[in-house]
Amino acid sequence: MVLATNLGFPRIGGKRELKKAVESYWKGAISQDDLHAQARAIRLQNWTMQKDTGLDHIPSNDFAFYDQMLDMSCLLGAVPSRYNWDGGAITLDLYFAMARGAQTDRQDVTAMEMTKWFDTNYHYIVPEFTKDQSFKLSCSKIFDHYQEAKKAGIETRPVLVGPITYLSLGKTEDDNDPMALLSALLPIYESILKQLADSGVKWVQMDEPCLAMDLSESQKAAYKTAYDMLSKAAGDMNIIVTTYFEGLRENTQLACNLPVEALHIDLRRAPDQLDAVLNALPEDKILSLGVVDGRNIWKNDLAQSLSILNTAIDKLGEERVMVASSCSMLHSPVDLAQEVKMDPQIKNWMAFATQKVQEIVTLTKGVNEGEASISSELVHSNEGAEERRTSSRIHNPEVKARVKAITPEMSSRQQIFADRRPAQQASLGLPSYPTTTIGSFPQTTEIRKARAAFKKGTLPEMDYTLAMKEEIKQVVRYQEEIGMDVLVHGEAERNDMVEYFGEQLEGYVFSKLGWVQSYGSRCVKPPIIYGDVSRPTPMTVDWTHYAQSLTDQPMKGMLTGPITILCWSFVRDDQPRSETCRQIGLAIRDEVSDLESAGIKVIQVDEPAIREGLPLRRADWDAYLEWAVESFKLSTCSVADSTQIHTHMCYAEFNDIIDAIAALDADVISIETSRSQMELLEAFVTYKYPNEIGPGVYDIHSPRIPTIEEMVVLLEKAAKVIPSNQLWVNPDCGLKTRGWAEVKPALENMIKAAKEMREKEESSQVA
Ligand code: GLN
Ligand code: ZN
Repeated sequence: MVLATNLGFPRIGGKRELKKAVESYWKGAISQDDLHAQARAIRLQNWTMQKDTGLDHIPSNDFAFYDQMLDMSCLLGAVPSRYNWDGGAITLDLYFAMARGAQTDRQDVTAMEMTKWFDTNYHYIVPEFTKDQSFKLSCSKIFDHYQEAKKAGIETRPVLVGPITYLSLGKTEDDNDPMALLSALLPIYESILKQLADSGVKWVQMDEPCLAMDLSESQKAAYKTAYDMLSKAAGDMNIIVTTYFEGLRENTQLACNLPVEALHIDLRRAPDQLDAVLNALPEDKILSLGVVDGRNIWKNDLAQSLSILNTAIDKLGEERVMVASSCSMLHSPVDLAQEVKMDPQIKNWMAFATQKVQEIVTLTKGVNEGEASISSELVHSNEGAEERRTSSRIHNPEVKARVKAITPEMSSRQQIFADRRPAQQASLGLPSYPTTTIGSFPQTTEIRKARAAFKKGTLPEMDYTLAMKEEIKQVVRYQEEIGMDVLVHGEAERNDMVEYFGEQLEGYVFSKLGWVQSYGSRCVKPPIIYGDVSRPTPMTVDWTHYAQSLTDQPMKGMLTGPITILCWSFVRDDQPRSETCRQIGLAIRDEVSDLESAGIKVIQVDEPAIREGLPLRRADWDAYLEWAVESFKLSTCSVADSTQIHTHMCYAEFNDIIDAIAALDADVISIETSRSQMELLEAFVTYKYPNEIGPGVYDIHSPRIPTIEEMVVLLEKAAKVIPSNQLWVNPDCGLKTRGWAEVKPALENMIKAAKEMREKEESSQVA
């Protein structure tokens, strides 16, 4: 019998109950007992649903109050010393202090670092290891939850992050090889497995996504050492090692030969790996086939999945196959049934986590009892797949023809930067060290209220427009008053830099409750690209044109770039991402052209997500960067030499993609640097970045108001390594999360700092 299994289920609850409970607890509005009771209710609901739907392996310990990696650190007793942990069982308040920092009369500690979980938009808490880190079993959650489910009559498969992935994702003192800690760590994993086995667990899931990444020799060796020991500790209990987000590639032999009972592979992200794995898998091992996408929102093509499953069954036999989600469903929204207002046809193409569990069960039934037993589901699925292949709502021949007709000239400016620069200087007439901002100004309560009321329909469009125009007028006047050189309109009308454009593009749909955990209690609701993307009418021209009409200074048009729009959406799975990105690039190109025709001389196309779109395997970087750069240039290269294109990037390590950043050929780039004291500039210096650059001098992520002197210091530091005629003066990022009370003095200081730099320059020229 083939088994129906799942790697993990979203823990936030269909209506974000967990977020609300946790935040109430933080505010002191509910007790710890209440919080636990609400969490138990969510778990029970998830387990029961999965059981009732018919799963054979139901995950437990996939629940976390904040993050599963933080839970591992607590389980293993890897608590950094600044938390003054007494070595006893880890309390919930200690847990939350590690997650978010704590500032009370008793303690004042910073949070642990947070970073992206592989190439998802989920963020995990990075383990911190000292050189002589010791470990100790310090939390009973994994055992408790297994018992909790068992008491409810539900047998579960506890989930752990495996030791190599856990160590690999941590931060070590002096950047030492984390594998050096393996021998200290393994005994704890051994005792966890023994205890699980003793409590009657039949299958334990060890998540080892790192097995599908580029591995060092020491990681490879560690995999062998670790699983040799762990398989012994597990005794009769079965271990499944799960890999996801990539294919095993050169690690296929290593993964297939680990001494465990089952291996899981992601056949959505890396369908090509199936043959190699089927050939390499020793005869006693079970293969778990991740055929239902755990991190997207599209319905499964059942016929296609059945054919994959049958290929595996032909080779391995029924006893050695499991049907599974490709990865944990943590990255998928909870329940499509809640989307009562969504366009029914588009909704019919989708599946959220609850529906995905059903798909797994249906597929399993199909292979166990024959396709006739799921004939109506198959018909329905085939119809849906056929509809998606042919629907005129998805396929727009005009868009496809336009993408096909893209020529290399379209993604190249008319002249090289050095030759178009004089035209820009003549048209803009800016001083040296020109000042600007990244786009948004503080989103005040009034702005948010007006936008919400307009969306609800309680504020008429005319009044809303008036309110926004009033806001624009004020920020334009303010910028003129303080002597800003290149102005912005402030983005008051935008809730979110991707959603704002998605709402105006064809090919996008929005969910009401399609929340996905981003970190801790924070959830995001990514817009969904279901069809060919095009721009029916201008999206920003009216606002920008109005703003420009109020001033003689250049007004900067503000757009989000194609790569960022792609990265922060759920993307259709029926064509390559590169194709979708080009379509978005063309839509933004139209907007850029319209802004230019409306008299806008400076246009910024933000790409903060360019680096996070990088593939997980180094070998795939170049191909990605090529189409990413092309899409950006498609969107920006229609303009005349005299039109100045800006881009903005934040929170990124630029060193390893500096070639691609230069290839974007934006006339001006603004980047985050102030926090690192200009260290991030290094890449641009070594590379001799040829175009203009605005290294942020004001850290907008902090409420602190930077002084004139410290910004002058930063600018002088920058001017030492970058010719001053290439330098701009600007904050690190947009100001929408800040209040005016901080922003005003900070910007005024920033402008004074620029003036000081100009004066110094003049006096040195006179001298
Ligand atoms: N233009 C955007 C803003 O100022 C850029 C935001 C970002 O980089 N994340 O808000
Ligand atoms: Zn930014």
